[in-house]
Amino acid sequence: MDLEKVLLRKVGEAIGRFRMIRDGDRVAVALSGGKDSLTLLHALLLLQERAPVDFSVCAFTVEQGKFLRPVEPIGDYLRSRGVAWTYYRDKPSFRLLDEQPGHGCDLCSRYRRRAVYEIARGLGANVIAFGHTADDFCESFLRNTLFTGRLSALPPVAYSRDKEFRLIRPLLFVTEELTKACAESLGAPVVPCGCSQKTGTVRRSLRDFFGELERDYPNLKETMLAAMGNIELHRLLDPRFIEGEPGVKEARQELFPIVMEP
Ligand code: SF4
Repeated sequence: MDLEKVLLRKVGEAIGRFRMIRDGDRVAVALSGGKDSLTLLHALLLLQERAPVDFSVCAFTVEQGKFLRPVEPIGDYLRSRGVAWTYYRDKPSFRLLDEQPGHGCDLCSRYRRRAVYEIARGLGANVIAFGHTADDFCESFLRNTLFTGRLSALPPVAYSRDKEFRLIRPLLFVTEELTKACAESLGAPVVPCGCSQKTGTVRRSLRDFFGELERDYPNLKETMLAAMGNIELHRLLDPRFIEGEPGVKEARQELFPIVMEP
């Protein structure tokens, strides 16, 4: 398999379908230290040379005190690729880690988001690219369905609250099997986050669940992604989308008293 060809086809498809990148954009790639965001950066650098759209690329990493190894090799690697890289030690995140070592993802990601916007602003970027993969989309779809009572995954394109930044996820059709192979073939240095080693989490259970099913159904994630883009609203249970049925909305609370109003 020509890894680069497959990667570019899948990333190109996501960017094209959701108009993720436009002429004149400055794209800041959020490098988490993992294989996914390094693969994303590689794909965007290749597309920059080949795509008819004119855009620039830079990269940054937010240090929140959870890396298991020094990040310097990332800087060396990026210098060798001619990419401008900003490494940012987020002091509020370090304080959070000291004061509340057992804090959850909500708080951690809120701190990260604030740092990410601050860095992107400093870099003059109008687009921030994240390395969420097909695996992340499928897992978040299942997690939301099973644990939050919402049918949703991750947005391929979104905007920061004041529309200052377009937030894009160009790896949405790329599996982690592919990012692993790409990162290995590039010799890109992977710096793991402590959280990736945790066991007994919902994320780990969902990964195991997919892993087991995929032994018999290898195209499971592709099918799930296709389903997310092919919604039959009237075959779900949200009264907002059931047309021509008077009284359905009112009946909702009777039938589903545990449903929370948004
Ligand atoms: S998995 Fe770890 S690094 Fe990621 S949001 Fe949760 S606490 Fe933060």
